[in-house]
Amino acid sequence: MDQSKLTVIQKNTSPEYPDSLLFIGNTWREAQDGARLPVVNPATGHHIGSVAKASATDVDESLIHAQQGFQVWSRTPASARSEVLDRAAHLLRARAPEIARLMTLEQGKPLAESLTEVLSAAQTIAYFSQEGPRIAGRVVQARLSNTQQLVVKEPVGVVAAFTPWNFPVNQAARKVAAALTVGCSIILKAAEETPASPSELVRAFADAGLPKGVIGLLFGNPADISHQLISSPLVQKVTFTGSTPVGKQLAALAGQHMKRVSMELGGHAPVIVAEDADIERAADTCLLAKFRNAGQVCIAPSRFLVHSSIEKAFTSALCARIQQIHIGDGLSPASTMGPLTNQRRVTAMQSFVDDAVRKGATWVAGAKVDDFGGYFFAPHVFTDVPLSAKLFNEEPFGPIVAIRTFNRLQEAIQESNRLPYGLASYLFTENLNTLHQVSQDIQAGMLWVNQAAKSAPEMPFGGQKDSGYGSEGGMEALDAYLNTKAVSVYFQPKD
Ligand code: NAD
Repeated sequence: MDQSKLTVIQKNTSPEYPDSLLFIGNTWREAQDGARLPVVNPATGHHIGSVAKASATDVDESLIHAQQGFQVWSRTPASARSEVLDRAAHLLRARAPEIARLMTLEQGKPLAESLTEVLSAAQTIAYFSQEGPRIAGRVVQARLSNTQQLVVKEPVGVVAAFTPWNFPVNQAARKVAAALTVGCSIILKAAEETPASPSELVRAFADAGLPKGVIGLLFGNPADISHQLISSPLVQKVTFTGSTPVGKQLAALAGQHMKRVSMELGGHAPVIVAEDADIERAADTCLLAKFRNAGQVCIAPSRFLVHSSIEKAFTSALCARIQQIHIGDGLSPASTMGPLTNQRRVTAMQSFVDDAVRKGATWVAGAKVDDFGGYFFAPHVFTDVPLSAKLFNEEPFGPIVAIRTFNRLQEAIQESNRLPYGLASYLFTENLNTLHQVSQDIQAGMLWVNQAAKSAPEMPFGGQKDSGYGSEGGMEALDAYLNTKAVSVYFQPKD
């Protein structure tokens, strides 16, 4: 690929960025000891603000408020809860342009992507506002006369939710909306790197009339806060989105305290491009799915398995499209790919590239990191990637395409299932047999066929194997926040 064709846009970073606070007992406030953490704009590497860093006392207070909030909210009629969620969705929509600007400043993605994320979070909240009132138990036929057997669904209690920096609003909205609609209260520990946009999500719920304590927001030392929340007897449910190693630690801790858990963890999505695939469509779709959010997406395509008869055509179609990507500050309207969110990702990307080159992969496209400044990293494409390369074993979580060929469909399926991950998967084919075989044999929580990943609120979203368990979409998402109670009643009939 001709490197000179990669377009780099002029930087255009607005300095207007608010410092973020904790939200405890319906009050926005500093940490008790006044501690703060810096926030950096990834497009420039400059500090743009700061976020309050909760102390153990702040966490304890948020727990007490959440418990009190639960007493009120769980007894609020589902229809009234639904109205609050609807108002929050409405407020989020109305405030979307400003929230999107904050998100781009702290996270880096292009403004259009930030706006889509906020509007999609509003859609998720609106969806769950409708589903909450539909929760129903059962009346089960009894074995004895004068007996009634009821199956009752109840909210689990206080939820501790941990969300990452890649989709700072949407990852939180899924957890918050599902928990709130069934009557749980929730303490959200959002990512310290991207605090302002999830703060606006919480503000929308507070402004919508959520009673005191029903939602709390903390930032601080993730390990300290998660340990304190998960160990607390007041918390009944833990939900985490992030990396598999951290997810395993938190699930183990939750296990010690017998807490309900949902884990939405890393993936390494296989993309099978079969010999009969529509190559132009596959290239268009992979471009969108792979480079959205600079590849920092748990469901982004990452192991490309392309039939050997079409590999050259597919690779050149994809590279031609990559040349149209405009890399730059997300605030510039012309940018179609922003920087990575932090320096850790840049270092990680470089190590994937170095390892692939060392192991003999063919470098088809790419450019040096230094060319861009900030935390920018150009798209890279490798073909003939050996199975031993890091790129085919660890989740890249960035804008690197790794391609291998296959000849028989079984080979591609076997390779897809080789890793311990099982989150997203993709298939491009026009053949019905191929479609059914892959959908039956693939070990993944989600399969997208001839289309880019879309996390529709009404569809389950979650993984298998090391990618976690539990679902964050559809009716399945609500089960995660509900207890089932069996009530069996004998009654004495009166004359
Ligand atoms: P990391 O593992 O340090 O952190 C991932 C997320 O977990 C962050 O939001 C962080 O604040 C949080 N976290 C870390 N330790 C925690 C703890 N003890 N308790 C509670 N929360 C904790 O990794 P990172 O450098 O931020 O990101 C790297 C990897 O994380 C990526 O390669 C990717 O695999 C994964 N990740 C996945 C998602 C996702 O959507 N599933 C999102 C972000 C990151």
